[in-house]
Amino acid sequence: MLIYDLELADLTETVKTWGEPVFRANQIWTGLYKNFWQSADEFTNLPKALREKLAENFRFDILTPTLKLDSSDGQTRKTLFKLQDGRQIEAVLMRYDRRRTLCISTQVGCAMGCTFCATGQMGFTRHLSSGEIIAQVMYYAHLLHNENDVVTNIVVMGMGEPFHNYKNTMAAIDRLNDPNGYNFGARRFTISTSGLVPAIRQFASEKRQVNLAVSLHASENDLRQSMMPVNKKYDIEELMQACRYYVETTGRRITFEWALINGVNDTPEQAKKLATLLKGLLCHVNAIPLNPTTGYEGKATTRERAEAFKLILEQNGIPCTIRIRRGIDIQAGCGQLASHQLTH
Ligand code: SF4
Repeated sequence: MLIYDLELADLTETVKTWGEPVFRANQIWTGLYKNFWQSADEFTNLPKALREKLAENFRFDILTPTLKLDSSDGQTRKTLFKLQDGRQIEAVLMRYDRRRTLCISTQVGCAMGCTFCATGQMGFTRHLSSGEIIAQVMYYAHLLHNENDVVTNIVVMGMGEPFHNYKNTMAAIDRLNDPNGYNFGARRFTISTSGLVPAIRQFASEKRQVNLAVSLHASENDLRQSMMPVNKKYDIEELMQACRYYVETTGRRITFEWALINGVNDTPEQAKKLATLLKGLLCHVNAIPLNPTTGYEGKATTRERAEAFKLILEQNGIPCTIRIRRGIDIQAGCGQLASHQLTH
């Protein structure tokens, strides 16, 4: 059993069955989530017999880093991890000013099949457990802790569709949010979906403080369907209704992700159609020049075209940011590293 798969209540029950006092569970919890100890041996505040029981019953080393790549500017670190079953996932740390943003995976591969995305091109293998999701955060938290630094933001935009693995993703977020543990504020998480409408509605009704981003990439069904097969099941009209429901229910702003692809969705006409689609909605557009993948022939837009796209949105009252592509020299788009060994 993976130690990070446990809730504090599970751990408490376990130590009780071992005949230990309840406070031992709190010590273990603190060791895991505040000190980032990653093996039973490190729990030197516990009696030796209890350390041995921990080691016998739980796995700590659930992620084995097999490849670490730093971008040429040293600001982006991508790690490929081997899981216990030999499958591979990746997580990326991006340093920007004082921000330390971590991008984590929720599945091995992805069932959504977005044509421009390296993970989509791999297909779906399996969901990650909540513990496997948490372990990615603890790995980087530990790394930054050793540099007297901390993770400031977590984006759930790595490999996989987090809303396809809703239960485990939310369990991981809730556990990381625990004030007695890692205490990572819900507002510092952003979860990104390709547009699974029922899950967006569920997420809205749970009124979480977690930020929501929706990968839109096109404002017409034909074009979106050609890029994102999920659009066949939940078309743009249905998706926008769910997004409006989210904003009305939570009062929170929603972010739309738009991978700018040269000549495909970066034209002035596309920008005007997008502005019409989003009119009156509390939202923001993140436009990101496409991260090229070997399985997709589209090219990233130019800086000039991106600026023109942004200007049209802003003239129509839609806030827009052009994100720079980070770590392009280390294949930092989601799934790119794993698919090269064998892109949200
Ligand atoms: S963009 Fe996201 S949802 Fe689409 S295939 Fe890639 S990982 Fe899956």
